Amino acid sequence: MTIEFQENISLKPYNSFGFDVSARYFAVLDNAGQLPAIRDFSQQNRVSVLFIGGGSNLVLTADLDQLVVVNQIQGLQMQDNPDGSVSVTAGAGEEWHPFVRWTLQQGAYGLENLSLIPGTVGAAPIQNIGAYGVEIKDRLSFLDAFDLETGESVVFTADECQFGYRDSLFKSRFPGRYLITAVTFTLSREFKPVLHYGGIDEQLRQRNIDFPEPLQLSDLISDIRNTKLPQPAQIGNAGSFFKNPVIPVDQAEKLKHEYPNLVLFADKSGYCKLAAGWLIDQQGWKGHRQGDAGVYAKQALVLVNYGAASGVDILEIAGAIQADVYQQFGVMLEIEPRCYP
Ligand code: FAD
Ligand code: NAP
Repeated sequence: MTIEFQENISLKPYNSFGFDVSARYFAVLDNAGQLPAIRDFSQQNRVSVLFIGGGSNLVLTADLDQLVVVNQIQGLQMQDNPDGSVSVTAGAGEEWHPFVRWTLQQGAYGLENLSLIPGTVGAAPIQNIGAYGVEIKDRLSFLDAFDLETGESVVFTADECQFGYRDSLFKSRFPGRYLITAVTFTLSREFKPVLHYGGIDEQLRQRNIDFPEPLQLSDLISDIRNTKLPQPAQIGNAGSFFKNPVIPVDQAEKLKHEYPNLVLFADKSGYCKLAAGWLIDQQGWKGHRQGDAGVYAKQALVLVNYGAASGVDILEIAGAIQADVYQQFGVMLEIEPRCYP
């Protein structure tokens, strides 16, 4: 139950870019009962708290004069509901991909397209993780959190989380205020696969599969991701470095007229999403390298650390990419990972 506070700990093993910065104070949390002690410590030492999970969406640019808390709250529960749905609750420190696989093994469906996303269950709502046409907002029922301001436990329903495209209330409105301790999803006993997105159907054809089994779909998505994305254990990265820009449909149409190969997806609300990777590709950034910082050779959206790059080096490349894209297309790319300090 007691929690140990350490000083001057390197965060290199705790962020997927592998940046070697240190935390002034550091603790590992394994149950929600330790949260009041964390709040007391931060108040007594006059430092803010940075709660992290797998560190796969972080850009750390310098030593942090903060209390960094690594969340390792575990626990899995599943309950069938009278309407045929399944409620699944996971501790926020559970690793996301093993959690997804466990749900599928238990016959609870709906998260298969989110296979192989790194990180923890508790971080998933922060940017409303999404892949292959599914976002967790579509499956999340409610979450439990601890309010660092008041010291109280609070429950947020999916609506209250104010989810948007790679966004939520926790990312945009109250960054750092709420520590998510558990997330509850509503899944289905009926397997209704989402297959229309980003090359899934082509892969199914190549494998002669008409209708995949749930774990087969999870494997297929994992295989696609493994061919396209660098493994953080081998090359430091935080996945897509920029969000796909969402712009008004008339602006998108003008751009499409000028650049007929522009990759865009219309949504129903008068906006279009542009593939940021395509925009970046047009200036030849793919494979670019400056020292140990670079742009992944197979995917222009992913910035990488080949070893000794710093967060500042990565942000320097990011800034140059933003300037180039803005100059050519008049569209400002937004950085997706969270930058600290
Ligand atoms: P961290 O990086 O530790 O933290 C991210 C943010 O969440 C920080 O602001 C942190 O303070 C906050 N946070 C973490 N845990 C909590 C908590 N319990 N309570 C409150 N705040 C918290 N993302 C996608 O959306 N789709 C993808 O397909 C995808 N693919 C990726 C592929 C690769 C190779 C990599 C490296 C990243 C990818 N990501 C993707 C980004 C990343 O995996 C997700 O954002 C993931 O949810 C981050 O989880 P984490 O535990 O590592 O969070
Ligand atoms: P991709 O399949 O090459 O597609 C390129 C972009 O087009 C994606 O960003 C995706 O947008 C969009 N797209 C593809 N098919 C679409 C459709 N039918 N309707 C609307 N939009 C469509 O992309 P990728 O880079 O290999 O990534 C595959 C999936 O994994 C994507 O969903 C991507 O978001 C996700 N991913 C996310 C991260 C991250 O760190 N955030 C990292 C790797 C992969 P969306 O991004 O909006 O889905």
